[in-house]
Amino acid sequence: MRRNLNDSLLGKRQTKPAVTLISGDGIGPEVVGATCRVIAAAGVEIDWHEADAGKKVFERGIASGVPKETMESLASTKLALKGPLETPVGHGGKSANVTLRKLFEAFANIRPVRELPGIETPFSGRGIDLVVVRENVEDLYAGIEHGQTADVSQCLKLISNKGCEKIARFGFELAKAEGRKSIHVATKANIMKLTEGRFKRVFEAVAMAYPEIHSRHILIDNCAHQLVIRPEQFDVIVTTNMNGDILSDLTSGLVGGLGIAPSANIGHDSAFFEAVHGSAPDIAGRDMANPMALMLSGVMMLRHLGEFEAAQKIEDALIYTLESGQGLPGDVAKGKVPVLGTRAFTDLVIENFGQIPVHRFERNYEPMAVPKQATTVAVLKPDTRAVVGADVFIEFDGLPAVLGDLLNKAATGSAFRLKMISNRGTQVYPPTGASPDCVDHWRCRFMLQTPVDDIDPAALGLLLASIDGGGLRWMHLEKLNVFDGEEAFSKAQGEN
Ligand code: NAP
Repeated sequence: MRRNLNDSLLGKRQTKPAVTLISGDGIGPEVVGATCRVIAAAGVEIDWHEADAGKKVFERGIASGVPKETMESLASTKLALKGPLETPVGHGGKSANVTLRKLFEAFANIRPVRELPGIETPFSGRGIDLVVVRENVEDLYAGIEHGQTADVSQCLKLISNKGCEKIARFGFELAKAEGRKSIHVATKANIMKLTEGRFKRVFEAVAMAYPEIHSRHILIDNCAHQLVIRPEQFDVIVTTNMNGDILSDLTSGLVGGLGIAPSANIGHDSAFFEAVHGSAPDIAGRDMANPMALMLSGVMMLRHLGEFEAAQKIEDALIYTLESGQGLPGDVAKGKVPVLGTRAFTDLVIENFGQIPVHRFERNYEPMAVPKQATTVAVLKPDTRAVVGADVFIEFDGLPAVLGDLLNKAATGSAFRLKMISNRGTQVYPPTGASPDCVDHWRCRFMLQTPVDDIDPAALGLLLASIDGGGLRWMHLEKLNVFDGEEAFSKAQGEN
């Protein structure tokens, strides 16, 4: 996989490449140490810039988990090999991993999985060789969350045309560069028509420029099912951030688990290489971690740097070691071969340098075009646009009929009329016969008498003041836009 990040990397290198090295948390230092050893043993000299991120940094009170010195290092090297970083779960600081990906616009996450010799799974013999291309910065991972009532929280799922186009192009360019023949785009477009639907539509538009690659849409749930039933049918899967996060752990499981799953995060002019797995705190510091996932990420990094021979040397030695039955890390040994610790397994791989495995990976890696970063803000101008109303989200702890009466009163004399109220997406007013289990968070849809170019803030202000005056608390507003004659808002279940 040779990227076009920096053309000077493509010729014979004169100087050592600078790479930021983040050892990370838990098993991170062990697998990072092992990977640096095999890279050095393969004869590649790297100017490592060691930097901190993750747990230790959170403990220093830095909420992003990424200190200024690390940011500066990354800004200058634009390349990193990193160990896993622990994320506080369910409270406090953001994920330092997500911060790194987003700050450096590493928009594509690539997770290849291939059946490995010597690692037996229920799928052995199927010839699994696929790559999940996950959009890496948008979707629910934009990380925009709000507690709207004490009881109800919201997370925004942001999907832009620009983001979809970049990852779709990336998927096709990767397929071309790796000689792959087909791409699936996996979405939940049947349910989230505006967000996942946009991803599908943009992908299909981009696909027209790549007629030589067979492409088709698959619903994400069916994709998960098909991956377990007949994984060998997949070549490249392009998908949204959250779907890709889950699906790529599943695909790792098909070939032997997290211990062997590498990944790369690629941006316009930056790249980070890391294992799919996390910090596995239960086995940290015990010489039990499988270093293969990060070693294979290191192989991806070497190809990215144009170090094809060294990458092949490491990959060959690794595959030979797996074939030889001399020993495997505990997570994949399955009692069939001697269990080796992280250090002993790394020593063995290095001893096997120069050996050619029977199951050599044959893939012609070509340079690939990474979509360029635009210098302007993306704007998609519709030919026509209008606003037809507004959804006002209201906190209320009574029954829908009571809320409906109060809101009808509040709208009297305003430019708006109450059309419906939904609770957790299901219409409850006017009643439809459905009886959802309601919470104190209500979406109240007010329509304008006639569509307008843009909503009059004064008219909206009067409506909100009147809602407030009726003793109700509003907490959130959404305009109901219509772009090019198409409603850009979802209907509630049961709404006509
Ligand atoms: P995890 O660290 O990937 O570990 C899950 C389990 O997978 C481990 O308990 C271990 O299983 C096995 N495992 C993972 N990597 C292994 C390896 N190299 N060798 C052998 N076994 C391995 O997932 P998690 O427990 O959900 O997450 C732990 C922390 O890591 C969290 O703070 C999470 O936020 C973070 N995380 C970071 C990244 C990243 O930095 N990119 C990614 C994912 C998670 P056994 O119990 O069988 O030993």
